[in-house]
Amino acid sequence: MDTIEEFLKNSNIPANASITAGRREPLAKHTTFNVGGAAALWIRPNQKDGADLIAAIFQRAKTQGSPVCVLGRGANVVFSDEGFPGVVLDTGGWSGVETFGQESGRIVFRAGTRIDRAVETLANSFGVPDEGASCDVMGALLARGYGGLEFLAGMPGTIGGAVYMNARCYEQSIADRLVSVAIIDERLRHVTVPFRAAEWGYKKSPFQNRDTLILAAEFSLYRKEKDALLADMNARRADRERKGHYRFPSAGSVFKNNRAFGMPTGKIIDDLGLRGLSRGGAMVAPFHGNIIVNAGGATATDIRFLVDDVAQRVRKSAGFELETEIVFM
Ligand SMILES: Cc1cc2nc3c(=O)[nH]c(=O)nc-3n(C[C@H](O)[C@H](O)[C@H](O)COP(=O)(O)OP(=O)(O)OC[C@H]3O[C@@H](n4cnc5c(N)ncnc54)[C@H](O)[C@@H]3O)c2cc1C
Repeated sequence: MDTIEEFLKNSNIPANASITAGRREPLAKHTTFNVGGAAALWIRPNQKDGADLIAAIFQRAKTQGSPVCVLGRGANVVFSDEGFPGVVLDTGGWSGVETFGQESGRIVFRAGTRIDRAVETLANSFGVPDEGASCDVMGALLARGYGGLEFLAGMPGTIGGAVYMNARCYEQSIADRLVSVAIIDERLRHVTVPFRAAEWGYKKSPFQNRDTLILAAEFSLYRKEKDALLADMNARRADRERKGHYRFPSAGSVFKNNRAFGMPTGKIIDDLGLRGLSRGGAMVAPFHGNIIVNAGGATATDIRFLVDDVAQRVRKSAGFELETEIVFM
């Protein structure tokens, strides 16, 4: 399988389905780290053919046996320099609000919905912005005058990626407002999974242990004045800008925090004087110990080396075993 035509052959996906696809597609331009080799086949199903199309592509990729990787905005992943030998299913075209209940405050976002499109302007170092994205979470909250997810303002990514990672910042996690998640499960069935607190934890979701496609997620919102919403969103964006989040391509925090360490992981790395440590084009951010940046021309190999190097130094000097947050594909 190498071309979209071969991929679609013998499937029940119509030849005229609305799909953008690329053979040997450079993944560097689909991730905020701007590194990674090419995908054998990159496929982005577009909006107009609905959830059935993205589900059918996932199902087709699974049944034909090639490796499959589901991609949101690529804000938490590092693809290897050799690239990805199978199908990268980019959810970016499957975006927007599926349903909203004015009374209940329940909203369903499609998986590819951007968290905050303002990031694309704040961080022009993150590579090609998504021209296809029609709607973002922050815009949807503002348009309706409902709050609950505005703490995520300024964070790059999509709803699917944020649910998968259980994205967290400012002491709140996306799971705090989650009601249910619609997925294609391991047996390739459409299933709605209700939120069960026991299955979620700090930057942990049940989907990290499963081979599934998140199609959409339902959240519980509450009424909030638009002015207050906008002020909160802008405060988060400004805080991230001040902390240097948008200065270089990166994937945000490299390592998870751990209460047992007694301090944030970034502080442990800072205290060891590792800011500025570099390998090739990868560097521990001069402004934050827990962020590794692509300071120019970094490869995935450079990043992997530096991540392992930092973890080893922390193990040796502080005795802590760091756990990576970024996903190496
Ligand atoms: C500057 C910067 C700041 C950041 N700040 C934070 C922060 O404060 N808090 C935080 O938690 N994270 C942060 N991150 C990391 C990142 O923004 C989040 O993890 C975000 O949720 C990733 O979303 P994504 O769509 O880019 O996921 P991707 O990086 O594309 O994917 C991440 C994982 O989710 C899986 N996935 C994605 N979509 C789906 C889907 N539809 N179905 C199944 N699996 C899927 C992928 O296979 C992959 O394993 C930051 C990153 C950057 C670059």
